[in-house]
Amino acid sequence: MYYNSNTELFHNGQWLKANEAVTDLFSQTLHYGNGVFEGIRAYETDGGTLVFKAREHYERLHYSAQKMHIRLPYTVDELVKITYELLERNKFKNAYIRPLVYLGANMSLTTTNEVHVLITAWEWGRYLGKEPVRVMVSSYRKSSPKAVPVEAKITGHYTNSILATTEAKNKGFDEALLLDHEGYVAEGPGANFFYEKDEVLYTPPKGGIMAGITRNTIIDYAREMGYRVEEKYFRPEEVYEADAAFFTGTAVEVARIHSLDSHEMQGRWEDTLAYSLHLVYLQRVRHAEFYEFTLV
Ligand code: PMP
Repeated sequence: MYYNSNTELFHNGQWLKANEAVTDLFSQTLHYGNGVFEGIRAYETDGGTLVFKAREHYERLHYSAQKMHIRLPYTVDELVKITYELLERNKFKNAYIRPLVYLGANMSLTTTNEVHVLITAWEWGRYLGKEPVRVMVSSYRKSSPKAVPVEAKITGHYTNSILATTEAKNKGFDEALLLDHEGYVAEGPGANFFYEKDEVLYTPPKGGIMAGITRNTIIDYAREMGYRVEEKYFRPEEVYEADAAFFTGTAVEVARIHSLDSHEMQGRWEDTLAYSLHLVYLQRVRHAEFYEFTLV
């Protein structure tokens, strides 16, 4: 699903066939989860295939690496350029791009200067599918920002996400919603969360969540459209009374939520601001004019 015998990827400065690339089984990332990564999408637009918010994703990759004391040997511009070459080599028009910065053999609990960079891509539909998602509040909490830098996209963070999604699916739901260490709504396992009540959009503030690039984009679009958006702490009970709710993220794009803990959203989706925002998002990612740049 992620690669076949023709797939080419970027690995430490070389272009390799995916099924011929090798890695070190003693990697610190494999053993301890000390690696950083990104999830980016490219869309076929009226100006050709473009990588949505490419610079912001690679700036976040640099931020994540710095938080884990990992020296990333490529600049943002270089990474963007490599990404376009990757898409071209694989003839992808719409793709999900996965850069991973991982470490070499090291069993001690400090970082190492042996840094590897993998960038690969595959054709991937919307992560949560087209149906509105049934969500449950997870019994797992997000780590406190005092325990780990939650705004950094670190591979090890995703054990928490895997536990939450697995629990939700085992209980018959589609996805989980995690609370922060104080019991306020934080985010989904791989997406940010918004709800709408009386034509105001609410989302948790930055600090205890991943500062999603899609989240920022949606807030910008909403404000531009004259909608009110408030960043505030709230409990799940407030969401039980919501008119609408949705997840945002590169992989999920804007995913409509059907219910939280079996409390159905109260508004008709087509009448909500969330619905208009969803349409605007899907339209803009396919129009070159909404990209911050074309090629570097
Ligand atoms: N929260 C978490 C935990 C995530 O993994 C992601 C995906 N990177 C997001 C939110 C959404 O971030 P973005 O919009 O930048 O993809």
